[in-house]
Amino acid sequence: MIVAMQEKATEEQIDAVIEAMEEAGVDVHRTTGATQTILAAVGSTASLDLSKFEVFPGVLHVHRISAPYKLAGRAFRPQGTVVEFPNGARIGGEQVAVIAGPCAIENREQIFETAARVKAAGASFLRGGAFKPRSSPYAFQGLGIPGLKLMREAAEANGLLTVTEVMEIAQIEPMLPYTDCFQVGARNMQNFNLLRELGQIRKPVLLKRGISATIEELLLSSEYIMAGGNYDIILCERGIRTYETSTRNTMDIAAIPVVHKLSHLPIVGDPSHGTGRRDMVGPMAKAAVAAGADGILVEIHPNADKAASDAAQTLYLDQFEKLVGELRVIAAAVGRTL
Ligand code: PEP
Ligand code: MN
Repeated sequence: MIVAMQEKATEEQIDAVIEAMEEAGVDVHRTTGATQTILAAVGSTASLDLSKFEVFPGVLHVHRISAPYKLAGRAFRPQGTVVEFPNGARIGGEQVAVIAGPCAIENREQIFETAARVKAAGASFLRGGAFKPRSSPYAFQGLGIPGLKLMREAAEANGLLTVTEVMEIAQIEPMLPYTDCFQVGARNMQNFNLLRELGQIRKPVLLKRGISATIEELLLSSEYIMAGGNYDIILCERGIRTYETSTRNTMDIAAIPVVHKLSHLPIVGDPSHGTGRRDMVGPMAKAAVAAGADGILVEIHPNADKAASDAAQTLYLDQFEKLVGELRVIAAAVGRTL
């Protein structure tokens, strides 16, 4: 942390800041320039609250020079994290992962037909929500555990792994037999109690970026899980809310290389929630793979127009198959397989 004092800061004001910094447990290195004094904090600065120092009289500005997260930072594992699943599937390695399935599990026929086509396309992960975070309390809320049982059956019949959203701590235990990867949705990215609890289990977590979260906040949320000892985290860029209204969200493709630079964790792109529009899912999926995404999460349904949730952004199974073929070409062009 660096504290830049105002040109007119008095010795008393500078001393007060130094004292507060030392009280916070860091060593202070002072540089007195011709016009301005700079105070640099050395030591464990991750837990320092910058805003506390900003309000001291005579302070011009305060900024961090080291990341506030430690375990999620690239330096912790410069070689990158590869999340491995029990059947040998991986996310974060050379192969680009494809996670596909309906927004919500609706019935046996829907999830079985989808699973067969996910497998046929060469993908390894079947997704489907059973606990749905819907904006309206009157919208379809998901089938709950009976839905997860259906998805597990469909996945096993096709040799696939399952990914599904957990919304609260009480759901973790009953979901354990049915999911290979817990998804934390955008609305829960800062549900810190849930994140802490997911740090205690030993199953991968797919952590989606919050609707208005910065990349730093996403990484700090992953830090909550890692702090508990669960290092198997896959981040997900799913679009953020901006002033643009042409798409449901604004898919921040740049977040993919930014995360790769700042963190060792793999990141997948979700062009379905990222755009909210079926006709734009393909282009943004391709953009994500081109930008280095470690996987794609995409919503598909045998009867997409009639999907119980997120119909407008859901691909038909044929469209999905065609897209996977196109993604293979892009993956090869950027030195990956799919
Ligand atoms: C979903 O994956 O269906 C979902 C609800 O995603 P998000 O949390 O990104 O809105
Ligand atoms: Mn959805």
